[in-house]
Amino acid sequence: MGKATGFKEHARENLSYAPVADRITHFNEFARLPEDMCTQGARCMDCGIPFCHNGCPINNIIPDWNDAVYHGRWREALDVLHSTNNFPEFTGRICPAPCEEACTVNLIGDAVSIKNIELSIVEKGWQEGWITPQIAAKKTGKRVAVVGSGPAGMAASQQLARAGHDVVLFEKNDRIGGLMRYGIPNFKFDKSVIDRRMAQMRAEGVDFRVNSTVGGNVSAAELVNDFDAVILSGGAEKPRDLPVPGRELKGVHYAMEFLTLNTKRVLGDEIPEEEFISAAGKHVVVIGGGDTGSDCIGTSNRHGAESVTQLEILPKPDAKPNKLTTWPYYPMKLRTSTSQEEGCDRDWCVSTKRFIGDEHGHVQAIECVRVEWAQENGQWKLNEVAGSEFQLPAQLVTLAMGFVHPVHEGMLEELGVAKDGRGNVAANDQNYATSIDKVFTAGDMRRGQSLVVWAIREGRQCARAVDEFLMGTTTLPR
Ligand SMILES: Cc1cc2nc3c(=O)[nH]c(=O)nc-3n(C[C@H](O)[C@H](O)[C@H](O)COP(=O)(O)OP(=O)(O)OC[C@H]3O[C@@H](n4cnc5c(N)ncnc54)[C@H](O)[C@@H]3O)c2cc1C
Ligand code: SF4
Repeated sequence: MGKATGFKEHARENLSYAPVADRITHFNEFARLPEDMCTQGARCMDCGIPFCHNGCPINNIIPDWNDAVYHGRWREALDVLHSTNNFPEFTGRICPAPCEEACTVNLIGDAVSIKNIELSIVEKGWQEGWITPQIAAKKTGKRVAVVGSGPAGMAASQQLARAGHDVVLFEKNDRIGGLMRYGIPNFKFDKSVIDRRMAQMRAEGVDFRVNSTVGGNVSAAELVNDFDAVILSGGAEKPRDLPVPGRELKGVHYAMEFLTLNTKRVLGDEIPEEEFISAAGKHVVVIGGGDTGSDCIGTSNRHGAESVTQLEILPKPDAKPNKLTTWPYYPMKLRTSTSQEEGCDRDWCVSTKRFIGDEHGHVQAIECVRVEWAQENGQWKLNEVAGSEFQLPAQLVTLAMGFVHPVHEGMLEELGVAKDGRGNVAANDQNYATSIDKVFTAGDMRRGQSLVVWAIREGRQCARAVDEFLMGTTTLPR
């Protein structure tokens, strides 16, 4: 696989980025792949047990496509890649790449640049016109409704259409793509990437229905009656709130409110100024240190924020964890996103006490306190540090503290589907079946907030379970 000595001969090459001063003037993607990806493929070392397979949630067959790329067999690489992943151009852009943490070369140096190789294979596939609709040779006459068009719903729909079923994909938003459409900003993930796949899926027979809220303007009960199977892939959309004094002030928003309006405007929608949430000229405080927080930072800097501060309640992680104790798992370590590089102050072990408003009810500042974490009876406990209160100016605050579970009101309540202890739809990862006959579930709606790569895995596996349920047997891969 690759070249046995390649990792000794060639250094890892990373993405290159447009200069900060340039890229913050627009919302376009700014990352560029290295020129010579064949050499990067050569760095795969034939390690015997490819831990990257297990590191990757969809078990991409990484050494095989690394080898094919090294030898210039791009078409073969694409076929191997598509055998496990419907949408490598999604993961190749935004996956946190747990495969690279699990790479054996990572133990002694820089991991093989697996994610970039993945992206280069699939983008070459599109350029060469190799990615075409795979239309089912025979129709089954079975109808499947999929609710929610994020990566889980898209993957399930594509697999089921290719198996010959008539698939209708219902989406409550005005555009397809779930959090990839309105959560992740264009500068990380250009939306034409979703549109390109939609065109393929449409040709394969998927019927997309936007502005269709199941449990709202589309009856959930009727869906169950009218279709042979239903998949619930509506995500985990209930955001975690911060119920401290002043939460009701103008200018304190959930991250998704801020990000969605911005992307709609970037996509050409007319958003009246009074509805739009702008960071221009404001001191912005982002509460939450994850991907969503980073996306708020990148968006705020592109609006022309006066300052951006990101607060995290957890301690600052080490920059370099001990690989011998963490490998092949995904370690907690200090990561700096491209958005954070573009300009923001980051602070850790900070908790928010209250938001302070002006006489017009608009947030002007945020009061915080430093915290310490200590273990008591094996449980981590948070203690405020006495006298450590401080204030930050803030005319815009975005709450980016994750999601607690799916929205229960509407579809889930109408169906009366059973939930697990965390409020997600209950179903195991073998048959993805819910407590209601004919109704299945996949993605964040089943597993709680997660990643695009996990959603694709769930969509594929759920599609297999549904195909087996409908036909008694299946040839779809798990
Ligand atoms: C801001 C942000 C940034 C992120 N960045 C990354 C990243 O960089 N990398 C990564 O891997 N992951 C990232 N994630 C997480 C990732 O986007 C999700 O884990 C993933 O999209 C989940 O896929 P899903 O298909 O399960 O659900 P979703 O993508 O949430 O899609 C669910 C869809 O269902 C629709 N829906 C819900 N209820 C109904 C209903 N009743 N009727 C009709 N439609 C309905 C919703 O409108 C939505 O479009 C990010 C998340 C956020 C919020
Ligand atoms: S999908 Fe993610 S984990 Fe899997 S190979 Fe691609 S970058 Fe790695």
